[in-house]
Formats: sequence, structure tokens, C-alpha cells
Amino acid sequence: MVSPDRRLDEASAILAITTRLNQANTPPVQRVQDLLQKLYEADSRRRALAPNVAKLSMDHELRALRNDINAALSRYSWTPVVTSILNLTPVSAWSPAVAQEVGSESGLNPDPLMPLWAKIHGGKHGPDEEWEPLAIWYLVHRGHWLRYRRCKECNQWFYARTDFQTSCTTACRQKFAARDSEFKKKRAQYMKKRYHAQKEADRKAMARLARRAK
Ligand SMILES: [Zn+2]
Repeated sequence: MVSPDRRLDEASAILAITTRLNQANTPPVQRVQDLLQKLYEADSRRRALAPNVAKLSMDHELRALRNDINAALSRYSWTPVVTSILNLTPVSAWSPAVAQEVGSESGLNPDPLMPLWAKIHGGKHGPDEEWEPLAIWYLVHRGHWLRYRRCKECNQWFYARTDFQTSCTTACRQKFAARDSEFKKKRAQYMKKRYHAQKEADRKAMARLARRAK
């Protein structure tokens, strides 16, 4: 059972992440977008190849993507820190400065991640340079990246409530479906036309051969 507080925190995090992804176009935001894009690319390739483990393990493109992802990740350093005196298991903070800050607080918070969650609230404002490591930590380290996607209709970043959601709103989903079915209809018409044209060409060729054989 998720506590109402935690839900509130998640709602703020979603807003803090998607707002910045959609509004800012600075190098820090661009880096987060690029990394997400690479993760999606690698993940969809992995899924496509997954039924064949031998093929998957030998795939050069997937390895190249993995190397790109690692190169992009190498600029971030997470710092382990004990935030609570009630729970001595260290958590990873997204920067040494943040580790120092949360590690010197009262330490009475029963949930050692709460101070970090609170940071996500703050992440809505601050400069993009401060938002970047926080966003990477939240999206990659905490494993939320799969839910932050680009709408296939309008290209806006949004938070997917389900695995299958690929459009940001119902309106976008319907628009995409309409275009998609229009595209499929046109393609079907084209294939039908092409089939008949080919059949006609074959018939003529056969007729020519028959005449020549006489
Ligand atoms: Zn959309």
C-alpha cells in the first residue's frame, strides 16, 4: 500500500521531470533526453532480439548502444550516504554535495529516502545544471526511466501509467489511431492496385508468348 505522502511525492516528481523535459532546451536537459532516447533504443532492440539468446549476446548494435549509454553515464557520480540513524543502510545520493547535506540532517527520519524525495520537490525550480544529476538519479538509478516517454503523436514527454501507453492523452491516442488506420487503408489499396497491375502484366506476357508459339 502506497502512502498518500509518497503518492504526492511521486506526483511532484512526475511534474518536475516532465515539465523540464518539455520546456527547457539547455545542454543539461538535452543530455537527459539523449540518454533516455538511447535507453529506449537499446531496450527495444533487446526486446526484439530476446527470444534468441545467442543472437542477443552477439549483437554488435546493442553493445554499441550499451557503450554509448555508459559514456553518457560516466559524467555522473552517485555517493553512498547514511541518512538516518534509525537505518544504517547507505543510500545513493546523486552528488557528493547532496550526500553531505542529507547525511548531516537530524537523521531521525524513519524512511532514509524521504529527504531525497523532498529534493525532488525542489527539483522543479533550481537551475538545469542541478536538475540534471537529480533527474538522472531518479530516472536511471531508481528505475523510473521506462515510464517517461515521448508521445508518438505530439512528441511531448509524458509519464506512462501503464506499459502499453504510448500517447500522452486520449486525444493524441485517437489522432494517432486515425492516422494509423488511414495509412493502413491507403497501403492496402496500393497493394491491391499493384497486385492487379502485376496480374494484368502477367496476362499480357502470357498472351504474347502464346502468339509467338503459334
Ligand atoms: Zn501527445
